[in-house]
Amino acid sequence: MGLLIGWEARRLKIPKSHPRYKSLTTREKLVKAVERGLAVKEGLIAHGRGEAFDYLLGEKTTGFAEKAEKAAAAYLLRADAPVISVNGNAAALAPKQLVKLGKVVNAKLEANVFYGKRVERIEQITRELKRNGARKVLGSNPDARIPGLKGQRALCASNGIYASDLVLVPLEDGDRTQALAAMGKTVIAIDLNPLSRTSLAAKVSIVDELTRAVPNIAGFATGFKRNPKQIAETIREFDNDNNLSALLKFIRDRLAKL
Ligand code: ATP
Ligand code: MG
Repeated sequence: MGLLIGWEARRLKIPKSHPRYKSLTTREKLVKAVERGLAVKEGLIAHGRGEAFDYLLGEKTTGFAEKAEKAAAAYLLRADAPVISVNGNAAALAPKQLVKLGKVVNAKLEANVFYGKRVERIEQITRELKRNGARKVLGSNPDARIPGLKGQRALCASNGIYASDLVLVPLEDGDRTQALAAMGKTVIAIDLNPLSRTSLAAKVSIVDELTRAVPNIAGFATGFKRNPKQIAETIREFDNDNNLSALLKFIRDRLAKL
């Protein structure tokens, strides 16, 4: 029996025993999200790039990712106006987890799209998040612009990303991450590629898979119980550059052993 991928997997139910069951069902989820206009084809390519990097990590959360997730929780709790930026892939893969994280750290949710018809896709993302418990989702009335970006990617809400002091960007494009950082915002990225411009431009770079990372951040945030001393200490002790370079060494050593 060959590998069940694409339309084949959709017709032939993927057996739970398949060694790549999780990966195949996740792909299915994204393909369905594209079919209903929540995600776009370009997002499928981005997902594939992420999967490739996940192999290098052993497809699990490393200690380095965990450290970054803990730091992210601390930064989110310390922020005055944190926003979680949600694109199509993120809404398709982790809607419930993102809504929950927003509640735990008291962050707003803002939908944003890179490709496709903005109005329709923002509506799809908003609907998906609301179906998963979100009370409010910003992004459908973009009345501000992120300086330095062209086109619809620049659009944002004046009472959301524009006014925020911290933005969590899961699966973000490098240009937008850099532009948000240039606005002086604390940017936390979730991106499996440690070499992406996003990972390199973020203040906290979480190199982990989205559906593993988001519940971890929420778990750490709950653990902090808003203890300001512990939060400040975590932020003080976290060094993103060191953490990223330790992760690259981990990948190198792992490959050498393999
Ligand atoms: P950059 O623009 O930052 O230099 P890029 O062009 O490769 O990098 P984009 O396609 O703009 O990246 O953004 C998608 C990023 O999200 C990819 O780097 C990919 O590794 C990552 N990614 C995709 N799916 C996931 C996932 N499920 N969990 C975590 N990261 C993911
Ligand atoms: Mg990019």
